[in-house]
Parts: sequence; structure tokens; C-alpha cells
Amino acid sequence: MSLRELYQEIIIDHGKTPRNFGKLPEANHQLEGHNPLCGDRLTLYLFEENGVIKAVKFEGSGCAISMASTSLMTESVIGKSLTEINRLAEQFHHLALTGDAEQADLGKLAVFSGVAEFPMRVKCATLAWHTLKSALSNQTNPVSTE
Ligand code: ZN
Repeated sequence: MSLRELYQEIIIDHGKTPRNFGKLPEANHQLEGHNPLCGDRLTLYLFEENGVIKAVKFEGSGCAISMASTSLMTESVIGKSLTEINRLAEQFHHLALTGDAEQADLGKLAVFSGVAEFPMRVKCATLAWHTLKSALSNQTNPVSTE
């Protein structure tokens, strides 16, 4: 199996069976995100304590890329500080725009390196991260990629 096929398998798996899907009653940050171009919608629930993300869940619907990206994002940020998350978000945006996974320690998030070849899908992949950053800066207006 090529790396590209492996990446596709991971995206399909997380797209079909998103991790951390559901409500989070103890959430102290909550925000909706919307990508009108594709119809992706999500609500992100975060429980943050002393600047560290202790728990994340989400609800929503959308294409496989947006669901997989949100699922993998939730797995990537649990236990991380807000500083680490901001750095990860920047690295992820760079990856989605350029396909360059070399410099970053993105782990499984590297599966989205192929998205750069499909500019229409970049917003599907980055919606979760836009919503995450806005939720952590205590914005209350829903995030839109447009
Ligand atoms: Zn989408």
C-alpha cells in the first residue's frame, strides 16, 4: 500500500467513524463552524482547564474530509496547551495549503497533505481548526469559511 493510499484509508475511516463525536456536558467553550461552499457544519465542545484542553467533542455533518479532519483534530489537541494548539493550527494550515508535511511534527494530521492539490477542499480540512481557534479565543459568533 502506498503512503497516499494509507492516507486515504485513514481519512475514509475517520470520515465514516468520527472519534469524539457527541456532546460534552462539561464544556466551557462551544462554537459552531460552517463551510457554505461544501455544506460542512460542526459544533465544537471544549473543556479547558488552566490553559490545557482536557476534553473535546463535536457534532455535525459534512463531507468525509471535514468529518475526518475534525475527528483527527480532536485526537490531536487533547492534553495540549493553548500555545501548543496555536502552533499545531499554524502547521496544519501550512500543510493544507502547500502539501508540505516535512518540517512539522503533525503525526496523523499529515494525512491531509493531499488536500493542497484540491483547493476546493482546503476549507473542508481547515474548518475544524478555524472553529477551534475561535472557540478558544472566546468568540461566540459562528465561524464561517466565507
Ligand atoms: Zn467539505
